Parts: sequence; structure tokens; C-alpha cells
Amino acid sequence: MKPSSVIGRFAPSPTGDLHFGSLVAAVGSYLEAKHTGGKWLLRIEDIDPPREVPGSSARIIADLARLGMHPDGPVLYQSNRLEDYQFYLQRLLESGLAYPCACSRRDLPTSGIYPGTCRNGIENGKKPRSVRFRHSENDCGFDDILRGRQEESPAGGTGDFVVRRADGLIAYQLAVIVDDYFQGITQVVRGADLLDSTFRQLRLQNALHFQPPEYMHLPIVLSEDGRKLGKRFDADPVRHENPAIAVAQALGFLGQNPPRDLSLSALWDWAMRHWDRSNICSQQA
Ligand code: GLU
Repeated sequence: MKPSSVIGRFAPSPTGDLHFGSLVAAVGSYLEAKHTGGKWLLRIEDIDPPREVPGSSARIIADLARLGMHPDGPVLYQSNRLEDYQFYLQRLLESGLAYPCACSRRDLPTSGIYPGTCRNGIENGKKPRSVRFRHSENDCGFDDILRGRQEESPAGGTGDFVVRRADGLIAYQLAVIVDDYFQGITQVVRGADLLDSTFRQLRLQNALHFQPPEYMHLPIVLSEDGRKLGKRFDADPVRHENPAIAVAQALGFLGQNPPRDLSLSALWDWAMRHWDRSNICSQQA
């Protein structure tokens, strides 16, 4: 196969073990990149220590290997990348595209849209807590590989959003675009629960002059009661002793129809040759 220039990635947060929902994102991102001869990278998004479950990074990496997914390069840990995030945060602050904000959760409306209280400076006597990115009136949209044109709602989603949290931690939205840029990612395949975040990420990429990757948002795996599958799922196929069962189920969820009872390596061979994104049913979520 002629190598392509696609570089995809899987970027789990170590807030629990790999589960069927995250496996679907791993398999989708892996095959989208690899079936064209591209590369697939793995990034552990461990920049939120309060939410981290000890040992889960190592278990996620081990599970991916057991399931036959090996990254084409060293695993990147966001906890090692803090200086770079700080650099770009500073750049946003210096250019006036981000500003310090003194609001605490209590000061904010429940609607989730920031009213712009600190946009023009912090009120006398108040202390800066977080840093917010200045939302512009410009339209924001992208062509999702699976879902077609996506436009941000006219109200602009969340308004000015946090890029450095009040506890000093860098927010996911900033870290993720700095690393997608740093790793040369050309294609982001992930669950549709992150579709709304994409608009914020595009705005940040635009502000920092990063070329955005292509985006593809997969259907989300829902539990029987219709909620997004959480980290606890008792009969999770990922835990099945035969890894081919888990991979076959993820492929089935993504509309692919592999022959039954293949070994793990035969299943991956089949998937590389037959992967067809047009079979994914994006109506599921
Ligand atoms: N770390 C995020 C999560 O586990 C995913 C980030 C991404 O794919 O952009 O939900």
C-alpha cells in the first residue's frame, strides 16, 4: 500500500479504563488513517489530575495493544506539554484574544453563555481567576467527513470560553488544538459528543494561525437507557477474553460487516481492506 499523508490520532483522557464507547472512537480513527496507508498516533490527555484514575493510562495503552492497535510513534502525554500550552496561552493574552476573568461559578448564569462581565477588564477589587477566549461574531463552520456542513448556532455556543481554568489547569479546548498542531494531525475522528467543541477548537486554531485538521464525528454508543456509555459498563466487550470479539463488535457498531469468527489478525486484515465509512450510520447520534 502506498503511504498516504493522513495522520490520525486517538486521544483518551485517563479518567477510567477503555470501554466500548471509547473503543469505537479508537477503531474508527485507526481505520480511517490506516486503511489509506496513513499514520495513527496515541495521545494521553492527562492534564486534569483531579479527574484522573491512577493506572488508567497504562491500562488504556495495554488494552489497545491487546486489541491489536499499535501507534505509529511514541505515546504523547499532555502532562509533559505544559510549557507549550503556556506559550500559546500567553500569545492569546498578548494579542488581546484572551483575557483574565474574575467570575466564579456563582457569578454566571445557568444558561451556560458567558455574559461578558470581564471582557473589558476586571472590576476593581476583584482578582483574576480564569482566562477566557474572546468569542467573535464571525460565523464558524466546518465540513464533517461523515455529517457534511456543520454551523455553530447563531448564539455562538458558549460565548467567551475558558482556556485556563480557575484552578490553574489548561482547559481541554486549548491543549487539544496545540497538540493536534504539534503532532501534525490531519484528521480527527472522535465521538459526536465532541462536535460542539469543534467550533471552539476551530476558533482557537484560527486565532493561533494553525491549519485545522479534517473532522469526523462518529455516532455515540448509548447504553440501554439511552445515555452516553460511561466508564462503567458491566458486560463491556472490551473485557471479553477474546479481543477479536471486542473489535468485531466495534466494527459492527460502525456499520462494517466482518465475517464471523476471524482471528484478531485476520479481522484487522479484513478491516483494513474493507473499511467503508459510507456504511457508518451517522443518524445514531
Ligand atoms: N480526551 C478527550 C476524551 O477522552 C477526547 C479528545 C478528542 O478526541 O479530541 O473525551
